[in-house]
Amino acid sequence: MPPSFSGMNGKEIGGMAPSLHKAVGDMTLSGDPAALAVLRDVFGYSVFRGQQEAIVGHVLAGNDALVLMPTGGGKSLCYQVPAIARHRAGLGVTVVVSPLIALMQDQVGALEEAGVHAAFLNSTLDGEAVQRIEREMMSGRLVMLYAAPERLTTPRFLAQLDSLYQRGLLSLFAIDEAHCVSQWGHDFREDYLQLNLLHERFPRVPRIALTATADDTTRADIIERLRLEEARLFISSFDRPNIRYTVVEKDNARAQLLAFLREEHAGDAGVVYCQSRKKVEETAEWLTANGIPALPYHAGLDPATRQRNQDRFLREDGLVIAATIAFGMGIDKPDVRFVAHLDLPKNIEAYYQETGRAGRDGLPAHAWMAYGLADVVNQRRMIDESPAGEEFKRVQRGKLDALLALAEAHDCRRVRLLRYFGEESQPCGNCDNCINPPETWDASEAARKLLSCVYRFRQQNGQRFGSGHLIDVLRGKVTDKVTQFNHDQLSTFGIGKDLGENEWRSLVRQLIALGCLQVEGEYNTLELTGAARPVLRGETTVLLRKPAPVKARGKDRTRTRAPSPSAPVTLDDHAQARFEALKAWRAEIAREHNVPAYLVFQNATLAEMALVAPTTLGQLAQVSGVGAKKLEAYGQDILRVLAED
Ligand code: ADP
Ligand code: ZN
Repeated sequence: MPPSFSGMNGKEIGGMAPSLHKAVGDMTLSGDPAALAVLRDVFGYSVFRGQQEAIVGHVLAGNDALVLMPTGGGKSLCYQVPAIARHRAGLGVTVVVSPLIALMQDQVGALEEAGVHAAFLNSTLDGEAVQRIEREMMSGRLVMLYAAPERLTTPRFLAQLDSLYQRGLLSLFAIDEAHCVSQWGHDFREDYLQLNLLHERFPRVPRIALTATADDTTRADIIERLRLEEARLFISSFDRPNIRYTVVEKDNARAQLLAFLREEHAGDAGVVYCQSRKKVEETAEWLTANGIPALPYHAGLDPATRQRNQDRFLREDGLVIAATIAFGMGIDKPDVRFVAHLDLPKNIEAYYQETGRAGRDGLPAHAWMAYGLADVVNQRRMIDESPAGEEFKRVQRGKLDALLALAEAHDCRRVRLLRYFGEESQPCGNCDNCINPPETWDASEAARKLLSCVYRFRQQNGQRFGSGHLIDVLRGKVTDKVTQFNHDQLSTFGIGKDLGENEWRSLVRQLIALGCLQVEGEYNTLELTGAARPVLRGETTVLLRKPAPVKARGKDRTRTRAPSPSAPVTLDDHAQARFEALKAWRAEIAREHNVPAYLVFQNATLAEMALVAPTTLGQLAQVSGVGAKKLEAYGQDILRVLAED
């Protein structure tokens, strides 16, 4: 029994009065040795990350917690470590509520690989399997049970929990993806609303709720609906320092994507988000034809195909998935190296959630987006034409504006992203603008010319035009349309010959982003807004990023390259060969055990092995991610693979 619990047996603690919880807390809170022992020998990690230690200590001592941590922050350990330590102390089983079958299976697979007795109950199991698991649970042998919320609230399951509770063998409730309780979020699950009964029925069992959703409304909902008023709130920074943010101007988006993948992510797993199902399918086909194996995923595929594609993405190394936003929640794959957007997301929340699926393992990852004038126009129109009320549209427009400002930014993108979520920070050094500060130019005069040209159209014959015609007029091009409308007679005809078409297009886009121009109607015509007035009067300076020079097709030389992401640390040729050999060995084991490769060992762990090239089990045990169980199961094998090289 770990020292922090000495003198108490499980029954006493499991059924103790609230004041006793506190007493245990005082004994265990600082640098808990039981927790550290679990972290080291079960998970093979040497130190806790960020707030993990405080959270684990708090929960281990029997207190409630609400944990807000970004994706990849390490939420699982926050309840798994206390669950294991409390089980070791004789406190019984931890029940983990999780909304997704795929997630449960992965978590349980990972725990079993690490030698922790865990199981899940869901609709995929037959009656016999269910009974076996129930027996394990009722005996108190099981450490963690994962269950869907609807199962948890069945009379049968509640009766079983009652029995455990009375015997002091119900240790902890962990409520994962706690934002599902909020009706405002897009992941709302009716069954989560029932979970407040846990507190009413088992008041002495501590609860930990976890989510990666940061906004205030959701947080308030979770606290209220799960009755967590007394819980301590742990809020982590939402920064994801290992993700590099890059936004490129759309030129030829497909070619740009291909160059990005070939130059920076050859052989890597990643997600390419597209707006429409059709585009998803075309993109997957096109990537595959170009030598990058890719699968489609969208809500229109038949369920079997969709499931198969998702499984392959999770299990195989280096697959790309082209997807609509339907693909996302529950993608727990830690080694997604890039998330690319071929179309503009709806708003910053969506962008951050989607890009957050990259680099959960903490290794360098990339969020890449190509965006152009058409994206801006489309998103505006989708809002304008939606049947929603005016107030809702106003909010949506505001959110889109914030995203556009991020895309057009010439300063640190991370600073802007974090500020949007209420966090102040310093330039990050790991976004395109920090690495390659874009040149800016004073576009005030050009903006004035452009806006007054729009004004003249209107003045001349009350008509509006789209950006193509506007740019022709500014550049003094005589087209049929120019002749038809006598636009060569306008004072603004040809006043913009000094700038190229590309520059004008970029200016139109940025003026829309700034809210000086508004796109309207079926033909995407442009109209001035109130915000254009100070610019026209010369009262505000318009400082804009210089448009990227027109590049040779598909070449994107304005960006520096990210460190080769398939190898998480810099490996010399020998170490790289060892890394490849270890990956091949891992693939075999994963096939044998029928689990995703990353459940055997993550890339970071294999890379460290390749780098250090241990020759003894003792040395191997020092590698981060090698716990006692895995050392025993695979140690000799790994040493052999390393020796062969
Ligand atoms: P989340 O659920 O918050 O998205 P996970 O729990 O999946 O994050 O953890 C993300 C990754 O970080 C996992 O690969 C996990 O193994 C790793 N990790 C978590 N905590 C630690 C730690 N203390 N030391 C090393 N790696 C850790
Ligand atoms: Zn930056």
